[in-house]
Amino acid sequence: MSRDPRPPLEPVTTDAAPTSYGSRPRAPWHDALLHAETSEALVGAVHAATRVAADAVRRADGPFTGADPGVLESRVAATDLDTPLGGLDDALSELGPLYLDDAVYFHHPRYVAHLNCPISVPAIAADVIASSINSSMDTWDQSAGATMIERRLVRWTADRIGLGPRANGVFTSGGTTSNLQALLLARDHTLMLCGEAVDSPALHRLRILASEDGHFSVVKAASLLGMGGDAVVPVAVDDDRRMDPEALSRALSRMREEGLVPMAVVATAGTTDFGAIDPLAAIAGLCRAHGAWMHVDAAYGGGLLASPSYADRLAGIGSADSVTVDFHKTWFQPVASSVVVVRERRTLRHATYHADYLNPVDADPEEKPNQVDKSLQTTRRFDALKLWLTLRTTGADAIGTMFDACIDLATAGAAAYRARPGVEVLLDPPLSTVVFRVRPDGVPDGDLLDRANDEARDRLFASGEGAVAATKVDGRSWLKLTLLNPATTVADLEHVVDLLERHAADVVDEADSSTRSGTREAS
Ligand SMILES: *Cc1c(COP(=O)(O)O)cnc(C)c1O
Repeated sequence: MSRDPRPPLEPVTTDAAPTSYGSRPRAPWHDALLHAETSEALVGAVHAATRVAADAVRRADGPFTGADPGVLESRVAATDLDTPLGGLDDALSELGPLYLDDAVYFHHPRYVAHLNCPISVPAIAADVIASSINSSMDTWDQSAGATMIERRLVRWTADRIGLGPRANGVFTSGGTTSNLQALLLARDHTLMLCGEAVDSPALHRLRILASEDGHFSVVKAASLLGMGGDAVVPVAVDDDRRMDPEALSRALSRMREEGLVPMAVVATAGTTDFGAIDPLAAIAGLCRAHGAWMHVDAAYGGGLLASPSYADRLAGIGSADSVTVDFHKTWFQPVASSVVVVRERRTLRHATYHADYLNPVDADPEEKPNQVDKSLQTTRRFDALKLWLTLRTTGADAIGTMFDACIDLATAGAAAYRARPGVEVLLDPPLSTVVFRVRPDGVPDGDLLDRANDEARDRLFASGEGAVAATKVDGRSWLKLTLLNPATTVADLEHVVDLLERHAADVVDEADSSTRSGTREAS
């Protein structure tokens, strides 16, 4: 039986307008909560808030102001949290000095530091709806259509990956959680195949193999899963920073000889530092031969699933047992939006626990589709809605085209940097990351060069004129552009490196003059 659709609502303007649940006396909290009579006030509040956010975005003339942590700390500390301002407008104004005036702005073309992206406008609008309705994804009776939207997006993602008809998965708060969940499933699946309990000593014979450039969340997951961080065995990479399949093959064979169990191989599709994509097809073959679970950490490279030009770089991903995709990185979605997808939906039962008050063990999953049965979280935001609204508004091709532009920018930027005598580029960008360092005149590889690069980066950030990331390669300091903004141009990248070269030269000059004057060098 279906009910008549609800009648359209007239805007509510009077204080005691009747609602579908009758008129009620005005309570002291009347204005504080969202309900039928304050629904128009919500529109005003969100308008005021987006006004403030939009103005902040428009005003930002650099990625950052260079504000000092101590200054912001004391401004925040001076706020009297026990004395409310009483009105949203005042509270919004107060956010200027506390946060918005000195925030880090990822939409700015010279923000080229971490894996943060400018975000899709329909996605932000979706977040307003998700917050206003406040569905919780744990059970059907808290989410209804939201569960169906999330499920459809999981299915859609699984189809793009090519995981086959039995695939399933769940949205998570990020790649860290997605990787943790995938490895939890791999752990329990492997122990089940060995006929061992999760708390058996066999747990300590399990090993996870990941390239030496794998994400640190893999080590964290191993630790949280009771295996210890040392259970993650690093596999050597080739000159292009991709996992070397020969080295993987040797490591797998050695493990067998030592009586260890290769529980999972984590192939990274887009390493955080270099954007390298491990050879997925070769790794899949080795996983099959050795009975190891293949997890693909595509937190970064997952954007290629939407790419009109470069999707083939993920060839082989369809052979995975599980895949992590971060929509909040290369899909231009606001934080948080990530998914873990598995080839065999049955494996998700390793994350299933029942509670009589929530998802009783005898509930029929067809009748009561409860997402909590496959999630590590319980109460969970409707984070799938933003991707849904983005796909329904602009579509996947638009997302993929923006990511393609970032990949092309990385190629062009690396070429421009290579053309400069004072800049060294580590490798051709496999994705949208450029690893480089500046080399002030005549400074050899060593501590001074490291310091010049580290300091140049800090000074650039403190100046507010640009933001780049840093990493170590073979123990030495390098700098990194992570390009996720299709609006950034090669000219922006040239500007950033001009500034870095100038700062680095200053650092070297200062070191020279302090040596000459006999001052002890800071280390
Ligand atoms: C960013 C990243 C993660 C972690 O994802 P979060 O969403 O930050 O938790 C995992 N793996 C790789 C390769 C990443 O780049």
